[in-house]
Amino acid sequence: MTTLAFLGLGAMGAPMAAHLATHARDQQARVLVWNRTAGKAEAHAQAHGTQAATLAQVAAADVIFTCLPTSAEVDEVLDQMRPHLRPGATWVDCTSGHPEAATRQAAELAAQQVTFLDAPVSGGTVGAQQGRLTVMVGGNAAALDAVRPHLAFAGKVVHVGDTGTGFAVKAVNNALLGVTLWATGEGLAVLGRAGVNLSAALEVINASSGRSNSSENLIPQRVLTREFPATFALGLLAKDAGIATDLTQSVQGSAPVLAQVAALLRAAQRVVGAQEDHTAALKFIEAMNETVIQ
Ligand code: NDP
Repeated sequence: MTTLAFLGLGAMGAPMAAHLATHARDQQARVLVWNRTAGKAEAHAQAHGTQAATLAQVAAADVIFTCLPTSAEVDEVLDQMRPHLRPGATWVDCTSGHPEAATRQAAELAAQQVTFLDAPVSGGTVGAQQGRLTVMVGGNAAALDAVRPHLAFAGKVVHVGDTGTGFAVKAVNNALLGVTLWATGEGLAVLGRAGVNLSAALEVINASSGRSNSSENLIPQRVLTREFPATFALGLLAKDAGIATDLTQSVQGSAPVLAQVAALLRAAQRVVGAQEDHTAALKFIEAMNETVIQ
C-alpha cells in the first residue's frame, strides 16, 4: 500500500488533502495528515477519512506533500523529519516557495535518496475545493510522472523546468496578480474621485482591453461589496512579489514594475494587516486618495 502524507492543513492544504483521500480509496493508498495545530489534523481525519499522524510518521511516507506559508516553514519541518525519511520517497512541495530554497532542499534531500519537486499551485481556495488547481512543477520529469496519479487536487499539471522553476513561475504569476490588482485599484480610485460610478466603469473595462481577473472577479466580488473575504492573505501575496524581486536580482534582470508592486504590497501589508485578504491592499490606495472604491 502506498502511503501519502500531507503537511499543512490551511486554506489550501485542507481541501487538497481531502482530494488525496477521496482518490486514495480507489488506489490502495492511505493518506496521513500533519498540522502544526494538531486539532485541525484530527478534525480532518474525522471529516475526510485521513489519519492524523506525527512528524516522524509522515516522514516515512512514500510521497510527502507540503503546503506551508513559505520555504522557511518547510525548512523547519524538514529539519525534524530528516532522521525518519525513507530512501526512494518523493517530496512534493506545494508551498509558494523560494527558488533558492528549492535548490538547497533538493540537494539536501537527494543526499537521503529523496526526490524534491517544487509544485506550487494556483486557482485559489475555490480551485482547491473543486480539485481543479493548476500545478507548476520544477524538478525531475520522471519523478513528476511517477507522482502524477496522486495529484488528485489538480485540474492541470505543467512541468516548467528544473528544480526551482515551479516556484519562479508562481512568484511571477502572483507578481502579475499584484500588478493588475494594484493598477486597477489606482484607476478606480481616480475615477471615483472624478465622480464616475465604479460599477459602470468596471462594466466598460471588463468589455475592453483593461480587463483582468482583478477587474472581472476580485474587485467586483470583494472590494465593491466591502466583503474582503480572507481566502488568500495579503502577507502571502507580498511574499510572492518579493520572491519575484529576488528572482530578478538573481538573474541580474530588470523588472522595475514588478519591484515597485512588491514594495507597495509590503507597505500595504504593514498598514492594512498581513492576515487581511490580498484585495484589502486597495484600502491603502483608498487612503492615498481619500476615497472608497465601491
Ligand atoms: P494558511 O495560512 O491558510 O495555512 C498555513 C498552514 O501552514 C497552516 O496549516 C498552518 O498551521 C501552517 N503553518 C504555519 N506556520 C507553520 C510553522 N511554523 N510550522 C508548521 N506549520 C505552519 O495558508 P494558505 O493555505 O492560504 O497558503 C499555503 C501556501 O499556499 C502559501 O505558500 C500560499 O502562498 C500558497 N497559496 C495560497 C493560495 C490561497 O488562495 N490561499 C492560492 C495559491 C497558493 P496552523 O493551522 O497551525 O496555523
